[in-house]
Amino acid sequence: MEPLDAGRESRRHLLHELRRSREGPTREELLRRLSGRRWCPRCQATYHVTSRPPKQEGVCDLDGATLVQRDDDKEAIVAERLREYDERIAPLVAYYRERTDVHIIDGNRPMQAVFDDLKAAVGIPA
Ligand SMILES: [Zn+2]
Repeated sequence: MEPLDAGRESRRHLLHELRRSREGPTREELLRRLSGRRWCPRCQATYHVTSRPPKQEGVCDLDGATLVQRDDDKEAIVAERLREYDERIAPLVAYYRERTDVHIIDGNRPMQAVFDDLKAAVGIPA
């Protein structure tokens, strides 16, 4: 597959890859973030076991429903996805880094700081 064709097809994967590139979150940090996510099947509220826990473990703050972990957030599945990125997407990242204006944003910071940098990178005033 030509890099450009692959790029059109999987832009979202490229963004994921950029996020966990050398300057971004470590592999362990990404695994922690993704596998710690919990979700309310009733109201769709999202939580995280360490960075955004509900008041009562496993229970939605808003409606008391039992929180669940989505299948695609489970650690083994996340690890497999990351392995696929290494094989299929890393070459794409190298391709775009050589040819385009890629902004690297450090994701190991508070959400607002990352968001501010994202806005600046696409030219939205703070
Ligand atoms: Zn809920």
